[in-house]
Amino acid sequence: MKITLKELERFKKVTINDFSDYEQDKSHDGGRYGFWTNFNRVDKNWVVTYGTTADFDFCPYCGNWGDSCGCDEPQIISSLDLLIELSEFRETEDEYIEFIL
Ligand SMILES: [Zn+2]
Repeated sequence: MKITLKELERFKKVTINDFSDYEQDKSHDGGRYGFWTNFNRVDKNWVVTYGTTADFDFCPYCGNWGDSCGCDEPQIISSLDLLIELSEFRETEDEYIEFIL
């Protein structure tokens, strides 16, 4: 995924989706879930939150199951950090990035 810093900072939101293990019939409690990571831009930084199709307790701030991690706020990363993460990401049919203006 090639994108410049300037291009990246035009977007309001970036989502990295991982549906490589996803099966619709088993996506709630059957062990075949979809996952995503949202990056919401605040000036030149990005607020990171996690989501899943699973119905179980899931921490939106670190992406782990349950609530024993004790997170109480999201991680915030710089545009450069996100740019590096995007540049290292290999898109496939089931693993893809969405950009929202
Ligand atoms: Zn957590």
